[in-house]
Amino acid sequence: MRASLIVPPHVYSSLVMVARDCLPDESCGILAGHHHGRVERIFPVDNIAEQPANQFRIDSRALNQHLPQIRADGLQVIGFFHSHPATPPVPSPHDITGMHDMHALHLIVSLKGSAPRLAAWRIEGARISAVDLILDDCPAPPEAESFWNEAATPAIMVGVALIAIISLIVLSFNLLPPAP
Ligand SMILES: [Zn+2]
Repeated sequence: MRASLIVPPHVYSSLVMVARDCLPDESCGILAGHHHGRVERIFPVDNIAEQPANQFRIDSRALNQHLPQIRADGLQVIGFFHSHPATPPVPSPHDITGMHDMHALHLIVSLKGSAPRLAAWRIEGARISAVDLILDDCPAPPEAESFWNEAATPAIMVGVALIAIISLIVLSFNLLPPAP
Protein backbone atom coordinates (compact mmCIF):
# COMPACT_ATOMS: atom_id res chain seq x y z
CA MET A 1 0.00 0.00 0.00
CA ARG A 2 1.27 3.44 -0.90
CA ALA A 3 1.88 5.53 2.20
CA SER A 4 0.39 8.97 2.63
CA LEU A 5 1.06 11.89 4.92
CA ILE A 6 -1.73 14.28 5.90
CA VAL A 7 -0.63 17.83 6.72
CA PRO A 8 -3.38 20.09 8.13
CA PRO A 9 -3.05 23.88 7.65
CA HIS A 10 -1.76 24.64 11.17
CA VAL A 11 1.10 22.15 10.67
CA TYR A 12 1.84 23.54 7.19
CA SER A 13 2.10 27.08 8.67
CA SER A 14 4.43 25.88 11.44
CA LEU A 15 6.69 24.05 8.98
CA VAL A 16 7.06 27.11 6.76
CA MET A 17 7.56 29.46 9.73
CA VAL A 18 10.28 27.26 11.24
CA ALA A 19 12.00 26.89 7.85
CA ARG A 20 12.06 30.69 7.42
CA ASP A 21 13.22 31.31 11.00
CA CYS A 22 16.22 29.00 10.48
CA LEU A 23 17.48 30.72 7.30
CA PRO A 24 20.14 30.63 5.98
CA ASP A 25 20.35 27.15 7.57
CA GLU A 26 18.13 24.12 7.09
CA SER A 27 15.53 23.54 9.81
CA CYS A 28 14.79 20.03 11.03
CA GLY A 29 12.62 18.20 13.53
CA ILE A 30 10.07 15.56 14.39
CA LEU A 31 6.61 14.97 12.91
CA ALA A 32 4.23 13.79 15.63
CA GLY A 33 0.81 12.47 14.77
CA HIS A 34 -1.40 9.43 14.30
CA HIS A 35 -0.37 6.09 12.89
CA HIS A 36 -2.59 6.54 9.83
CA GLY A 37 -0.36 9.41 8.73
CA ARG A 38 -1.96 12.65 9.96
CA VAL A 39 0.58 15.07 11.44
CA GLU A 40 -0.75 16.93 14.48
CA ARG A 41 2.34 18.70 15.81
CA ILE A 42 5.92 19.37 14.82
CA PHE A 43 8.85 19.45 17.24
CA PRO A 44 11.71 21.51 15.77
CA VAL A 45 15.18 20.43 16.98
CA ASP A 46 18.63 21.97 16.53
CA ASN A 47 20.36 21.15 13.27
CA ILE A 48 23.72 19.73 14.37
CA ALA A 49 25.11 19.14 10.84
CA GLU A 50 28.61 20.45 10.13
CA GLN A 51 27.29 22.48 7.18
CA PRO A 52 23.73 23.36 8.28
CA ALA A 53 23.17 25.63 5.26
CA ASN A 54 22.84 22.60 2.99
CA GLN A 55 22.69 19.61 5.33
CA PHE A 56 20.73 18.57 8.37
CA ARG A 57 21.30 16.20 11.26
CA ILE A 58 18.81 15.57 14.07
CA ASP A 59 20.35 15.22 17.49
CA SER A 60 19.14 11.88 18.86
CA ARG A 61 19.22 13.35 22.40
CA ALA A 62 16.70 16.00 21.30
CA LEU A 63 14.51 13.23 19.92
CA ASN A 64 14.58 11.43 23.28
CA GLN A 65 13.80 14.66 25.13
CA HIS A 66 10.60 15.17 23.13
CA LEU A 67 9.32 11.59 23.34
CA PRO A 68 7.57 11.95 26.74
CA GLN A 69 5.61 15.01 25.51
CA ILE A 70 4.68 13.27 22.25
CA ARG A 71 3.35 10.27 24.20
CA ALA A 72 1.57 12.54 26.72
CA ASP A 73 -0.25 14.18 23.78
CA GLY A 74 -1.42 10.72 22.67
CA LEU A 75 0.72 10.96 19.54
CA GLN A 76 3.62 9.03 18.04
CA VAL A 77 6.67 9.84 15.94
CA ILE A 78 5.51 9.32 12.37
CA GLY A 79 8.47 10.89 10.59
CA PHE A 80 10.92 13.75 10.35
CA PHE A 81 11.10 17.02 8.48
CA HIS A 82 13.80 19.34 7.25
CA SER A 83 14.00 22.31 4.92
CA HIS A 84 15.87 23.14 1.73
CA PRO A 85 16.52 26.91 1.68
CA ALA A 86 17.41 27.07 -2.02
CA THR A 87 16.83 23.68 -3.64
CA PRO A 88 13.70 21.67 -4.58
CA PRO A 89 12.05 19.37 -1.97
CA VAL A 90 13.96 16.32 -3.21
CA PRO A 91 16.35 14.33 -0.98
CA SER A 92 20.00 15.29 -1.51
CA PRO A 93 22.75 12.62 -1.59
CA HIS A 94 23.60 13.67 1.98
CA ASP A 95 19.93 13.21 3.01
CA ILE A 96 19.89 9.71 1.55
CA THR A 97 23.08 8.57 3.30
CA GLY A 98 21.98 10.23 6.55
CA MET A 99 18.42 8.90 6.63
CA HIS A 100 18.68 5.49 4.96
CA ASP A 101 18.54 3.56 8.24
CA MET A 102 15.67 5.51 9.82
CA HIS A 103 12.83 3.75 7.92
CA ALA A 104 10.54 6.69 8.53
CA LEU A 105 8.76 9.25 6.42
CA HIS A 106 10.69 12.39 5.57
CA LEU A 107 9.01 15.65 4.76
CA ILE A 108 11.03 18.32 2.96
CA VAL A 109 9.99 21.99 2.92
CA SER A 110 11.53 23.88 0.02
CA LEU A 111 11.82 27.67 0.15
CA LYS A 112 13.10 27.82 -3.43
CA GLY A 113 10.83 29.98 -5.55
CA SER A 114 8.04 32.37 -4.63
CA ALA A 115 5.87 29.90 -2.67
CA PRO A 116 7.01 27.11 -0.30
CA ARG A 117 6.78 23.58 -1.69
CA LEU A 118 6.46 20.39 0.35
CA ALA A 119 7.20 16.79 -0.61
CA ALA A 120 7.36 13.59 1.41
CA TRP A 121 9.60 10.58 0.89
CA ARG A 122 10.35 7.17 2.27
CA ILE A 123 14.01 6.20 2.17
CA GLU A 124 14.91 2.55 2.70
CA GLY A 125 18.54 1.81 1.91
CA ALA A 126 19.19 3.15 -1.57
CA ARG A 127 15.49 2.98 -2.45
CA ILE A 128 13.57 6.26 -2.41
CA SER A 129 9.84 6.37 -2.94
CA ALA A 130 7.50 9.34 -3.04
CA VAL A 131 4.81 9.48 -0.37
CA ASP A 132 1.40 11.02 -1.16
CA LEU A 133 1.11 14.35 0.59
CA ILE A 134 -2.40 15.48 1.49
CA LEU A 135 -2.61 19.14 2.47
CA ASP A 136 -5.99 19.03 4.09
CA ASP A 137 -8.03 19.95 7.10
CA CYS A 138 -10.19 16.86 7.29
CA PRO A 139 -10.72 15.80 10.91
CA ALA A 140 -8.78 12.84 12.21
CA PRO A 141 -10.76 9.61 11.86
CA PRO A 142 -11.54 7.94 15.19
CA GLU A 143 -8.88 5.54 16.38
CA ALA A 144 -9.97 1.94 15.77
CA GLU A 145 -9.92 1.01 19.45
CA SER A 146 -12.05 3.88 20.74
CA PHE A 147 -14.53 3.45 17.87
CA TRP A 148 -14.95 -0.21 18.86
CA ASN A 149 -15.47 0.72 22.51
CA GLU A 150 -18.07 3.39 21.75
CA ALA A 151 -20.03 1.11 19.45
CA ALA A 152 -19.74 -2.03 21.55
CA THR A 153 -20.42 -0.71 25.06
CA PRO A 154 -24.21 -0.03 24.63
CA ALA A 155 -24.65 -3.40 22.88
CA ILE A 156 -22.91 -5.23 25.74
CA MET A 157 -25.06 -3.39 28.33
CA VAL A 158 -28.31 -4.30 26.51
CA GLY A 159 -27.13 -7.92 26.28
CA VAL A 160 -26.34 -8.12 30.00
CA ALA A 161 -29.72 -6.54 30.88
CA LEU A 162 -31.60 -9.06 28.67
CA ILE A 163 -29.80 -12.02 30.27
CA ALA A 164 -30.66 -10.65 33.74
CA ILE A 165 -34.38 -10.26 32.86
CA ILE A 166 -34.59 -13.74 31.31
CA SER A 167 -32.86 -15.22 34.39
CA LEU A 168 -35.39 -13.49 36.69
CA ILE A 169 -38.37 -14.81 34.66
CA VAL A 170 -36.97 -18.38 34.68
CA LEU A 171 -36.24 -18.09 38.41
CA SER A 172 -39.75 -16.79 39.21
CA PHE A 173 -41.37 -19.68 37.28
CA ASN A 174 -39.25 -22.16 39.27
CA LEU A 175 -40.32 -20.52 42.54
CA LEU A 176 -44.05 -20.70 41.72
CA PRO A 177 -45.89 -23.36 43.76
CA PRO A 178 -46.66 -26.45 41.68
CA ALA A 179 -50.07 -26.38 40.00
CA PRO A 180 -52.70 -28.19 42.01
ZN1 LIG B 1 17.82 17.69 2.47
